[in-house]
Amino acid sequence: VSCALKSKGPGHGYAEAMRDKRARAQAGGELALIERIRRAAKHRSGGRSELRLGIGDDCAILRPRRGEEIVVTTDFSLEGRHFRRDWHEPQSVGHRVLARGLSDLAAMGARPVAAFLSLALPRQAAQDAAWVGGFLDGLLALAKRSATPLAGGDTSESPCDLVLADIVLLGAVPQGRALRRDGARPGDRIFVTGALGGAAAQLAAIKHGARQKNVAPGPLDESPHFFPQPRLHVGQVLLAKRLATAAIDLSDGISTDLRHLCKASGVVAEIYRERLPVHTLLQGAGDEVISAATLHGGEDYELLFTADPKVRVPRRIGKVALTEVGRVTEPRRGRSMVTLVEPNGKRLTLAPGGWEHLR
Ligand code: ADP
Ligand code: MG
Repeated sequence: VSCALKSKGPGHGYAEAMRDKRARAQAGGELALIERIRRAAKHRSGGRSELRLGIGDDCAILRPRRGEEIVVTTDFSLEGRHFRRDWHEPQSVGHRVLARGLSDLAAMGARPVAAFLSLALPRQAAQDAAWVGGFLDGLLALAKRSATPLAGGDTSESPCDLVLADIVLLGAVPQGRALRRDGARPGDRIFVTGALGGAAAQLAAIKHGARQKNVAPGPLDESPHFFPQPRLHVGQVLLAKRLATAAIDLSDGISTDLRHLCKASGVVAEIYRERLPVHTLLQGAGDEVISAATLHGGEDYELLFTADPKVRVPRRIGKVALTEVGRVTEPRRGRSMVTLVEPNGKRLTLAPGGWEHLR
C-alpha cells in the first residue's frame, strides 16, 4: 500500500495547509472529533489514581506511586499493514490498536497506567460517524476492562486514504522488578499461555473469502485475530509471585519471539512439538497448516516465559492455561538458537518463520 503525500499543485504549501486545517477544525472536524473522544473516554476508561489530569490540556499529568517505575511502549497500527477496513470491523480495529500495546505491558508484568492515541483519519472516515463510533467502542471497551484510561493523543487528517493509529502505553511495575527478556538461564523451563495459532487460522479464513467480520463476538477468546486478549493478569501474577525469570509476548510467532528472548538472555532453547497447545480453531486442519500456525503464526498475543526449575508453576492463572513447551539450554558450538524436537526425537533447527533439518 503506498501512501504518497498528496501534492495539491502550486501555491499549496504548508501555510495554506494549516489555513485549511484551521478552517476544517473550526467547521467542527478535528475539534469535534477530539471532543467526542474526550467524552467517550471519560465514561469508558477505567480510572487510575496516578492520572491527575487527562484529555483537555496541553499535557496529561501523572503521579507515579512510590516504589514503582514506569514502563513505556508504542505501537503503530497502519491500514493495509496491520488491518484492512474491508476485513476488520471498526470495533476490531480499535480493539487491536490498544491490545498490541497492552500485550507489551503484560509481557513486562506491568499494570496499565495510561494510553495515548495518535490518530490520522482520511476525511471520509472521520466523517463516517458509524466508523468512528465503532472504532472508539472497540478501543474503549478494552480500555475499561483493562483499567487503562485514555489520557491524551493527537488527531489529524490523514494525507492519504489510510487510517493510521499510534498507541503509546504507560504502565507501572515495582522498582527493578519488570519481567524482561534477558533473565532466562540454562535449565529453565519454557511455558506459554493459552493456545497458539488461532489468530493465524482466523486470518487464513478471511483471506480465503470466509468474511468473518466480527461485530459482537461471543466469548472473546474465540476470536483471537479480531479480538486478541492481552494477558495482563497473567503477567502481573508472574511478576508478583516471582514465577518467571524472563518473558516476552508472542506477537510474531514463537519461532521469532523465542529467538529474541534467547538472544537477549545469551542462551539457546528447545521446544517439543507435541506439547505446543494448538488452538481449537485449527481442529481438522492438516499437519502442515497446524505446524505453520502454531510455530510461525503471529498475533496470538499470548505470553512466553521461562521459570527456574525449582519454582512450582501453576497449571493456570485465572482462566488462562499455562503449558510447558520446552527448556532453556547452554549455548554450544553447532547448537541452534532454537531447536524443535519432533515426537520421534528428531531434532530440527527452528528458524524464524521457517525451519530446516539439522545436518
Ligand atoms: P495541542 O495542539 O495542544 O496538542 P490538541 O488540540 O491536539 O492540543 O489536543 C487537545 C487535547 O485533546 C489534548 O489533551 C490531547 O491529548 C487530546 N487529544 C487529541 N487527540 C486525541 C486522541 N486522538 N485521543 C485522545 N486524546 C486526544
Ligand atoms: Mg496536538
